[in-house]
Amino acid sequence: MKDEQGMNRRDFLKLSGKTVGTVMAAGMLKFPFAQNAFGSNGNSADKVVILHTNDMHARIEENADDGIMGMAYVASIVKDFRERYDNVLLVDAGDTIHGRPIANVLEGRSVVDTMNAIHYDVMTPGNHDFNFGYDRLLELEEDLECELVSANVTRDGDLMFDPYTVREIGGHKVGILGLATPVTRYTTHPDNVRGLEFGSVVDATEQYVSELRGNHDVDLVVALGHIGYGANNPDEAEVRTTDELVRRVDGIDLFIDGHSHTRIPEGDKHGDTLVVQAYEYLKDVGVVEVDFASGSPEISARLISAEDAFSNYEPDEEMKDLLSQAREDAVDARLGR
Ligand SMILES: [Zn+2]
Repeated sequence: MKDEQGMNRRDFLKLSGKTVGTVMAAGMLKFPFAQNAFGSNGNSADKVVILHTNDMHARIEENADDGIMGMAYVASIVKDFRERYDNVLLVDAGDTIHGRPIANVLEGRSVVDTMNAIHYDVMTPGNHDFNFGYDRLLELEEDLECELVSANVTRDGDLMFDPYTVREIGGHKVGILGLATPVTRYTTHPDNVRGLEFGSVVDATEQYVSELRGNHDVDLVVALGHIGYGANNPDEAEVRTTDELVRRVDGIDLFIDGHSHTRIPEGDKHGDTLVVQAYEYLKDVGVVEVDFASGSPEISARLISAEDAFSNYEPDEEMKDLLSQAREDAVDARLGR
């Protein structure tokens, strides 16, 4: 839980980010507002846009050959949306801070810096975010401007993170619940998660969805889960996939998923829940528009691919500088300087 001062600092940074975005807006779109492919129906006070990433595995650097846009393009996309929409949230569904030399020798520091630079709002840790040990994750949490949420990770019976956060944006109350895959306990070195319990995602979801609806009266329930999309083994007692989970549990409007590296171009509807996931390695950025005009949320989803990003945006200069610095820091760290 961040203290009040932390909130103020975050709000201040958000404001300053907005100002920077305004100054830079003209330069970052290749064809400013010439086409509205990413804006669909346009801004309105009734609308909240949620931008989402997952499974970047520290691919913060552009790699056009592999179709990876990197954080400099993500930054331009995010700034563009914040320019064009009043109510924008930016979230990440985990497996974020570990996976490339630029991050690993700095134990995730460089990824945290890039996330702070574009003011992520909420993240849920994935299994690989425990790869530097959970102490390191808690240390990075102190530096992360965004909130970490996870409703089923406990240590000695106590939750390690806030289970959810409620964001009031443009008069709309959005509850965002975090979920971690139970496989975390054996997909990272045992030392990294010693003493941690990864509890039932069904139990955690039922408990906190009813808390969000009952106690907080939210207008939208979002599950931000590093769970993974795909067929479940029906013989297994434990629910391990998002599709199985949303079939079992009611009350989630939007499930922003990760872990399985699945590209879901327009989201998949399961009952009343729309499940979205934005592939892997920053090859896509997910865009969800939630329209509250009719009284109940109407949700649509799409992806901005690296190809879309390369042809419509310029990479953000500030982020490019930050990435150069990160590369230097990584070399220094490797050489023990
Ligand atoms: Zn994962």
